[in-house]
Amino acid sequence: MELIDGKKIAQQLQDEIAAEVKQFVSGGGKVPHLAAILVGDDPASMAYVGSKVKTCEKVGFKSTLKKFPATISEAELLHELDVLNNDNDIDGYIVQLPLPKHINEHKIIEAVKPSKDVDGFHPINVGRLVLDLPTYISATPFGITQLLERYNIETSGKNCVVIGRSHIVGSPMSILMAKNDKFANCTVTLCHSRTKDLKAHCLNADIIIAAIGKPNFVTADMVKQGAVIIDVGINRVDDASLPKGYKLVGDVDFEGCAPKCSYITPVPGGVGPMTIASLIKNTLLAAKKEIYA
Ligand code: NDP
Repeated sequence: MELIDGKKIAQQLQDEIAAEVKQFVSGGGKVPHLAAILVGDDPASMAYVGSKVKTCEKVGFKSTLKKFPATISEAELLHELDVLNNDNDIDGYIVQLPLPKHINEHKIIEAVKPSKDVDGFHPINVGRLVLDLPTYISATPFGITQLLERYNIETSGKNCVVIGRSHIVGSPMSILMAKNDKFANCTVTLCHSRTKDLKAHCLNADIIIAAIGKPNFVTADMVKQGAVIIDVGINRVDDASLPKGYKLVGDVDFEGCAPKCSYITPVPGGVGPMTIASLIKNTLLAAKKEIYA
């Protein structure tokens, strides 16, 4: 079994981006600039946005964090998006999800200018992904394809089971794995809560990508010998022995499954660090106008 070290690969990607930024700027290009909108004070969202901003600094980007109270109205938030859409110095921006219940997330996602939608959530960018047109691939699926590529994991003709069909992870992941690309070309089965006999699907899988949000859901009896497992899940489980009172675990029972795998991602340190590195990569693509001229 080989552990897929997402922390190491994310660092490699960041180093490459930092070098590319230096070269771009010294050649007269503008310093890439990512903005993030944070609504409310959810601790997990604050931590995610904080890491994104910190990573921007590390790779030589400019970053702007715009914080708003949870009481901001939908109209006010739409106005803030409009400001970012029209600010020529901002190359890309994200709106940290989830948003408070009184704000329609779809409306917000659709209000982001597609050329600045470095999260890749806008319907136009999702459509471009489906049609093989240049686009911002949403960060988590993009990060996973990078892990497969950099570990040179054979995917062509393999059976890939994606568990979870969310718009930000499972669904785009299934589309990417089915593409006619070097680190794709899988036969993909997209599973969800209504899937019958999930275990049988998983036992037939050469690659399992778990994005469910349920701690230790995928167990060893569901895994074929030699399978590749990508664990997207980030779940807090109580652990009184730790100072924080909890630990992070994935959607996969790592201890049980790892001995059967050829490759497996840990949690933490697997997919998570790649998500931020991929967002930064999308921002560089935006600054270099490589997706939208
Ligand atoms: P969602 O809650 O949006 O989606 C969960 C999916 O899992 C749904 O499609 C749901 O099916 C499916 N599901 C739930 N229960 C079962 C079941 N018993 N059997 C089969 N499928 C089931 O989650 P996200 O995609 O947003 O996130 C998934 C996990 O990944 C979370 O732990 C999240 O924290 C983590 N995550 C990690 C990231 C990272 O950077 N590493 C980034 C984003 C998310 P149905 O559609 O039928 O309800």
